[in-house]
Amino acid sequence: MVKTDYDLVIIGAGPAGLTAGIYAARARMKVLLLEKAFPGGQILVTDWIENYPGFEGISGFDLAEKMKAQAEKLGLKIETTEVHSLNLSTDLKEVVLKDRRITTKSLIIASGASPRSLGVGEDKFIGKGVSSCATCDAAFFKEKTVVAVGGGDTAVQEAIFLTKFANKVYLVHRRDELRAAKILQERAFKNDKIEMVWDSVVTGLSGFFGVENVSIKNVKTNEEKTIKADGCFIWVGILPNTSFLNEAVETDKFGFILADAKMQTSVPGVYAAGDVRDTPLRQISTAVGDAAIAAISAEHFIENL
Ligand code: NAP
Repeated sequence: MVKTDYDLVIIGAGPAGLTAGIYAARARMKVLLLEKAFPGGQILVTDWIENYPGFEGISGFDLAEKMKAQAEKLGLKIETTEVHSLNLSTDLKEVVLKDRRITTKSLIIASGASPRSLGVGEDKFIGKGVSSCATCDAAFFKEKTVVAVGGGDTAVQEAIFLTKFANKVYLVHRRDELRAAKILQERAFKNDKIEMVWDSVVTGLSGFFGVENVSIKNVKTNEEKTIKADGCFIWVGILPNTSFLNEAVETDKFGFILADAKMQTSVPGVYAAGDVRDTPLRQISTAVGDAAIAAISAEHFIENL
């Protein structure tokens, strides 16, 4: 068998990566988890989680801390570094970092996903009223008016969270029906600080020091109007964090990694888990399920090498 630095390298320390780490550490594999920022992934910016079994309600930050502590207690080593690229073959995988290269027998890609942008010039207002993180920025909008964009779980859940601070939240959605879970919809409709703006898209933002106006257009009537707002939170879906991948494994047309029932990608010994994977559901519970399968698949792969 080819000699490598590790049995398993995991990329990304969100719920999927940390779960894979827990399973690999318990399987006594020589494992390293690489994370470019803080362990926790997207749940770090999720205010409140109430659909992960065992926790009637827990903050994303606390759940991330618990997962990390559990993994480290089992011996998982986590290194803060960014993956630059991958060189993959069946019996040897090379992970290229900024300062060195590491070799491994197997690899789990659990690098997650990030918020998609609208592409209406919002970039120049980031930090000046535009955000995708209510947990980080909602408090800046105490007693103010904000626009939230999107109709999925994230937009609706975070719009509700914004009402803890803002006086008024316009929820702008491009259709006349939300995509979010029904329980979240019910809460949003009952919240008198939230006003739904149906069938509408944001066409631009303006303001002198920061966001002052959000321009919207009704896609059915073509009517255009301006909402006076101090901020604009954008939650219109996610894109996979795969800048290091460079077609090393097969993906769908959006860049989400294709994997089979064992979470194996197009390269034997390389697995994908969590939001970065092409999957019909992106939840903490599905991410940890993917990761448990991926870690055990990696263990079996190494045994059979
Ligand atoms: P999502 O489910 O893909 O929803 C994106 C929303 O943005 C959709 O309503 C979509 O409209 C809208 N949209 C997309 N592109 C747009 C554009 N260019 N302009 C205007 N609107 C646009 O994304 P998400 O809400 O970020 O959720 C991502 C994943 O995480 C999902 O699988 C979700 O279930 C999961 N998640 C779960 C929870 C939870 O369980 N509590 C919380 C957060 C996220 P259409 O509906 O018209 O397509």
